Amino acid sequence: MRVPLTIGDFLERAAIVYGERVALVDEPGRPGTLGSVTYAGMRRRARSMAARLDALGLEHGDRVAIVSPNAARFAIALFGTSAFGRVAVPTNFRLNADEIGYIVKHSGARVVLIDPELDEALAGVSAEHRIVLDGTADEELFADRESEPTAWEADEDATASINYTSGTTARPKGVQLTHRTLWLNAVTFGWHVGVSDRDVYLHTLPMFHVNGWGMPYALTAMGAKQVVLRKVDGEEILRRIEAEGVTLLCGAPAVVTAVLDAATLRRDKGEEVPGRELVRIVVAGAPPPSKTIERVETELGWEFIQIYGLTETAPLLTVNRRPSEWDGLDPAERSRLLSRAGVPAVGVQLRIDPEGEILARSNNALEGYWEQPEDTAKAIQDGYFRTGDGGYLDGAHLVIADRKKDVIISGGENVSSIEVEDCLYQHPAVAEVAVIGVPHEKWGETVKALIVQREGEAAEERDIIEFCRQRMAHYKCPTSVEVVDALPRTATGKLQKFKLRQPYWEGHDRLVN
Ligand code: AMP
Repeated sequence: MRVPLTIGDFLERAAIVYGERVALVDEPGRPGTLGSVTYAGMRRRARSMAARLDALGLEHGDRVAIVSPNAARFAIALFGTSAFGRVAVPTNFRLNADEIGYIVKHSGARVVLIDPELDEALAGVSAEHRIVLDGTADEELFADRESEPTAWEADEDATASINYTSGTTARPKGVQLTHRTLWLNAVTFGWHVGVSDRDVYLHTLPMFHVNGWGMPYALTAMGAKQVVLRKVDGEEILRRIEAEGVTLLCGAPAVVTAVLDAATLRRDKGEEVPGRELVRIVVAGAPPPSKTIERVETELGWEFIQIYGLTETAPLLTVNRRPSEWDGLDPAERSRLLSRAGVPAVGVQLRIDPEGEILARSNNALEGYWEQPEDTAKAIQDGYFRTGDGGYLDGAHLVIADRKKDVIISGGENVSSIEVEDCLYQHPAVAEVAVIGVPHEKWGETVKALIVQREGEAAEERDIIEFCRQRMAHYKCPTSVEVVDALPRTATGKLQKFKLRQPYWEGHDRLVN
């Protein structure tokens, strides 16, 4: 027997087994907040959404873009679209109107859902149907009543979501993830992290980022309670953990730092830090320093789990979770071992090519880049996905040591150097430019621009940064600008970025942060 694996399976099961349980605790005090939603209620609302999309004339396969910080409506929309044959396009809400407009247009989204706080700034972003998630305009879309959406002939190879990611091109690329891919990622991720029906999850990870890395699927399947967090703030995270009995959260290393700082403030005031021996935190996006891991274990008493992956791999490729053999080690040594990206997840095969690039073979890897067959052909070669990351194997453990692709990762989000360079070339004082990532205590890496000035023009750092801030999402903009006489190039004229990065990375054992 072959039953198609579709993400609708997760919500159907939750509604049957855990119908009366709280599925979602929405962020309080926001326009359109849904308060507490049970799994039966989540299913009703997802079906209402599907029926409403039918009424708007959407066919199966049509795209629906979602531009919003974390919200219950977002989690429901992941199911209300894909579980009924449409394609979700979760979009980074920190991008500016031009960038979001590009994604909406490129994906061909017929519907765009927009958070009320972004409505004005994104006034120019439109689609056939533009709906603000304020509880009024979207009332029909999330109605808590029985609806009968058009049946969809379940197909596990159908695209469930398109997730845009900044890579090696000036514009982001749409990663097509199928139902089968998302299903297998959710199941293996849930297995490795041990998601159970007793878990209470805090959504510290943006839901747009690989569909909250697939956690909403894994948690829904198990009927776990999910607490929505709209904005990352260390103290607020601790408060929610205390109030809701949170046991599991995920984030980039910057989230860990925010929590550690808030915990230090609490301890200084003689206040308790919640979650000891109860919470596990899953970290990815950049290699966390081993000192940070040690502090999570000793100061918070939480379990630290690292994973590594990409949007293109849905994302799980490797996992580093303390095996029983490490129980007796002292925390510093254990943290050193945990600072590696980890061992292949179930179903993943890894290889390192002669140039040191990590290649992965897995059912989690993308179907392709949306309408970019040439980029797809470059990314998947001889049955392996080229990660663009550089690394090596330490026994079975993968270590990420370098980045082959020209991407900077700041606060867990990708920044394409080429995109930033493109923007800087529009500045009248810029004759030549190279954009690199340099280490940063809070964000892991930050964007730095090295500029050769055009003759007779003066390139002021403040002015150049402001120029970028007016044109790109702020997290992509340089935080420092240096004027240089010339940029090192190869005989064929290619920029030698490794030479430019060297002085800033001295004393670091890895060239990524
Ligand atoms: P994204 O597609 O935005 O999720 O970014 C994926 C990139 O994040 C990868 O190609 C890596 O460069 C980086 N990354 C993710 N997880 C880790 C990790 N555990 N250690 C080092 N880098 C990571």
